[in-house]
Amino acid sequence: MESPFAGRKAWFFTGSQDLYGPEVLEQVEQQSKQVVADLNASDELPFEVEWQPVLKDRDAIRRAMLDANSDESVVGVITWMHTFSPAKMWILGLDALAKPMLHLHTQANEALPWDTIDMDFMNLNQAAHGDREFGYIVSRLGKQRKVVVGHATHDDVRHKVAVWARAATGWAELRDLRLTRFGDNMRGVAVTEGDKTEAEHKLGVSVNTWGVNELVAAVNAVEDSAVDDLVATYEERYDVAPELRRDGERHESLRYGARQELALRAFLEETGAKAFTTTFEDLGGLKQLPGLAVQRLMADGHGFGAEGDWKTAILVRLAKVMGHGLPGGASLMEDYTYELTPGKQKILGAHMLEICPSLTTSKPKLEIHPLGIGDREDPVRLVFDTDPGEAVVVALSDLRDRFRLTANVVDVVAPDAPLPKLPVARAVWEPRPDLATSAECWITAGAAHHTVMSTAVGLECFEDFADLADIELAVIDEHTTTRAFAQELRYVAAVRKFTEGLR
Ligand code: MN
Repeated sequence: MESPFAGRKAWFFTGSQDLYGPEVLEQVEQQSKQVVADLNASDELPFEVEWQPVLKDRDAIRRAMLDANSDESVVGVITWMHTFSPAKMWILGLDALAKPMLHLHTQANEALPWDTIDMDFMNLNQAAHGDREFGYIVSRLGKQRKVVVGHATHDDVRHKVAVWARAATGWAELRDLRLTRFGDNMRGVAVTEGDKTEAEHKLGVSVNTWGVNELVAAVNAVEDSAVDDLVATYEERYDVAPELRRDGERHESLRYGARQELALRAFLEETGAKAFTTTFEDLGGLKQLPGLAVQRLMADGHGFGAEGDWKTAILVRLAKVMGHGLPGGASLMEDYTYELTPGKQKILGAHMLEICPSLTTSKPKLEIHPLGIGDREDPVRLVFDTDPGEAVVVALSDLRDRFRLTANVVDVVAPDAPLPKLPVARAVWEPRPDLATSAECWITAGAAHHTVMSTAVGLECFEDFADLADIELAVIDEHTTTRAFAQELRYVAAVRKFTEGLR
């Protein structure tokens, strides 16, 4: 996967005013450059923050915001009022800004110089009230932003900025995302449906469908030599079952899997799509339900949803972008079945085939097994256990008048025992705060059985994303109670009735 952060940046806007005179403004400039340097010294930040000239009047502010809007490399802006910057001059600029904003409430000095402080120092370092003046106008205008407080050398501050930078990049990528569907949703299923027009308006994603036989034609057109090369890659990367190897009796099935991967990859490139869906109900002339091919395309950063589930495909792509470069991964996931024994309660998640191997650091097994669904030949697939650790599962539901994200913080654990007869990749997890509360809340929220599971970025990145995309996010974590969660859903529903669609 190409880095989604390459060539991207955030602009750093420092607010001040002409009142202070050139000497003070020179210091403002130097100190704001230092703040930017401190942020950029962070290992966590996925791209550069770029310092911009100090803003002192409304024309310059409006021009700077319009420039940020039109520069494709800028995913968002960071603002700081070093001195007092009377906020009425920010009204037109903030109104024009169409990109995510982070308000960094900081100051040049970490320590207060108790022994030497005088009124000159006080006049230079007054972000403590300058930023409050700014916060007032942003709130009054109803502009979404993330507020981060603290010194730019502090890890917690840098971490929050880095998480926002990832979320803002996710937002930028979605607005550039094309999603290719092969066939429609699984017949009769409700939760995978949704308003694709609204998704393009709200998220920027273009969702369109192709007949699966166009993919079949591409599969049939793949060159044998390309299949040879890809099979060699499989043998290198995976623990290939003997029957699938070159001398094995089912080697042709593996070659067909490789053919599907090459065709899918080329088709997606041609349609400019970084996310896609398939459905076992509409396989046309495909001989296998794509398993291995889908798993490998997800591992390369593509979004994917099964059974035509384009909403989950969007989430998988979003998680791939936001988590790029971090340990862990992201995958389509499905709550499959439970361990309900008291004291051991957990969820076994998997899918028919399509779980992304970015969830494991082990060497996956490449196997072939029958699939009782889809009415085709046995499909090849990667089989593995997801690495233990903290994760988040997120679903996207269409509630008629709006979209709702629901997120559950979970702990992936080792299976209680090996699963020798389960021929698919899987994850076993303990949902927070506990299985009953988690599932009560999840079902009350109308959240889907398909999710993205992310072990790279966690809840805070999805929270930043939901805020900047202005999408409801219902959170289930260690603090959740069913009663408070249900109440919150009611309150938010009432608020959204009045606010949704107004911007
Ligand atoms: Mn499914």
